[in-house]
Amino acid sequence: MSGEYGVVSRFRINLNKTVFWKFLNSVNSDSDLINKVINGFTTAWRGLTLTMKHLFVGNFKRKVLPITDDNYFKQQNDTNTIQYPMQQLPTPEVGRYQLDVEIDDCIVCDLCAKICPVNCIDIESIKSTEGSIGETSDGSKKLLYAAKFDIDMAKCMYCGLCTIVCPTECIVMTNQYDRTVFELKDLNYEFSDMSPEFAAEKRELLERQQAEKQAAKLAAMKAKEGGA
Ligand code: SF4
Ligand code: SF4
Repeated sequence: MSGEYGVVSRFRINLNKTVFWKFLNSVNSDSDLINKVINGFTTAWRGLTLTMKHLFVGNFKRKVLPITDDNYFKQQNDTNTIQYPMQQLPTPEVGRYQLDVEIDDCIVCDLCAKICPVNCIDIESIKSTEGSIGETSDGSKKLLYAAKFDIDMAKCMYCGLCTIVCPTECIVMTNQYDRTVFELKDLNYEFSDMSPEFAAEKRELLERQQAEKQAAKLAAMKAKEGGA
């Protein structure tokens, strides 16, 4: 038994030696392999180091500073995020976020609605039957009522074109970026200050005036034909 065991042991030792030398030969014959192994470990180590760094750095809180502060853009290494909404980043006064309309200064010219690339401005104008209904703060005459002035901010792409074409500069982009709502329809902002009853009354007056003008025109044409 011991003789057989000795033969098996020697065979195993020889086999292990063979495998080891084959391995060493293959490693020595291919110097690129060592470099590849070293590179693999180095890359993995760098990746893990970065992961560990970000794992703990996220515990730091970003200080809320105004955009004018010299350190505003220097806080990038301290944190991954902020505790919103308890903590909010300040926005510059000239921020271009939510739209606002000073409806008293609107002459209802419809230019903003026409230029809007996504058709998110919906205006209904009613011509005044009594001529001028007032002036805007820059002295422009108002001849139309804004029965409807809706902006669907869910569709708005914040291009700002509407603010550029407005002749009275009454539609502006504000630095208000957070108008969180629960219903999508609540992102439709209504700026008209006309009540439905008042708008209906003005619509009726205009229709009546137009009908009277049309009747007078027809009567004049008939009189002309009768005279001829
Ligand atoms: S900012 Fe652009 S997309 Fe938004 S309402 Fe004005 S024109 Fe339309
Ligand atoms: S362009 Fe200005 S004035 Fe004309 S409808 Fe739009 S907001 Fe009113």
